[in-house]
Amino acid sequence: MKISEIYLQKNPVISFEIFPPKSTTPLETIFSTLAELTKLHPDYISVTYGAGGSSRDRTKEIASRIKNQYGIETMAHLTCVGQSEAEIDQIVKELRQENIENVLALRGDPPADQLDFDFSTCDFQYAADLVKHIKSQGDICVGAAAYPEGHCNCTRLSDDLDHLKNKVDQGVDFLITQLYFDNRVFYNFMENARRIGIECPVAAGVLPVLNGKQIKRIISLCGASMPAKLLMMVDKYGDNNDDMEKAGIEYASNQVQDLLDNGVEGIHLYTMNKPQQITQILRNVGRA
Ligand SMILES: Cc1cc2nc3c(=O)[nH]c(=O)nc-3n(C[C@H](O)[C@H](O)[C@H](O)COP(=O)(O)OP(=O)(O)OC[C@H]3O[C@@H](n4cnc5c(N)ncnc54)[C@H](O)[C@@H]3O)c2cc1C
Repeated sequence: MKISEIYLQKNPVISFEIFPPKSTTPLETIFSTLAELTKLHPDYISVTYGAGGSSRDRTKEIASRIKNQYGIETMAHLTCVGQSEAEIDQIVKELRQENIENVLALRGDPPADQLDFDFSTCDFQYAADLVKHIKSQGDICVGAAAYPEGHCNCTRLSDDLDHLKNKVDQGVDFLITQLYFDNRVFYNFMENARRIGIECPVAAGVLPVLNGKQIKRIISLCGASMPAKLLMMVDKYGDNNDDMEKAGIEYASNQVQDLLDNGVEGIHLYTMNKPQQITQILRNVGRA
């Protein structure tokens, strides 16, 4: 089923994101994670795409299993950086052959060793170009990324929002936000997005902070701001894994509960392949 159709039937749509195991780790390791996550009956599970297409086959295989073995709707992430039009067409064709109807169309980050990478040399410079192309190829539901605090390559928030509007206008069916830690950031973003005519459903992206070191790395990569409360929490518990995990689960549970109370259309949980912690969060908010 297309995720756009799920949005017509349900509110909120609750989805999970997982990532394929590294190429040196057996693919099977993800299936015990999936077995746990599927017990929570998410509306769909998305599978990330390794930088530069490094997990191309694994993304497809895992998404295919979610759909065809577990009977849960799925979405494959797809980035266009460094991929030719012919390669993108081939990937989309393979996904369709696996009965996968949903794609998260992304530009992707520059290759790790080329921070000044020139995206204009790619067949698709921006995600908007990818969205337009995939939509022109056939009947597929396309999601895209949104950045409540602005994308790190864009110096002005209002420009980033205009770029987002342009991306949505190319045929985006729904958006998922980058992680953020203060729901006021999300609500403000939604107000601005609706004001400039972005009308598709938007899922709030929530990442449970389960590990002090990991969160500092993630934040340095995506630029999300840390509210004082979270900063203090990481300072206090960051060196003790068990305490940090408990505090992080509570923080994420409060964030999700507030989103539910405010009637958001979608909540996308970045699971970090940690089913027990996700189960606990959903239990805390009465959803498991
Ligand atoms: C929910 C979610 C899932 C993700 N999953 C993955 C994944 O699986 N694999 C992965 O590698 N990465 C993933 N990412 C990260 C993403 O690839 C990076 O954030 C990337 O840098 C931007 O991708 P985008 O699709 O948002 O790009 P775009 O929408 O193309 O935006 C990129 C930048 O270009 C600017 N821009 C857009 N249009 C124009 C224009 N016309 N003129 C000038 N500037 C413009 C935007 O303001 C922004 O700064 C994900 C991000 C999110 C939020």
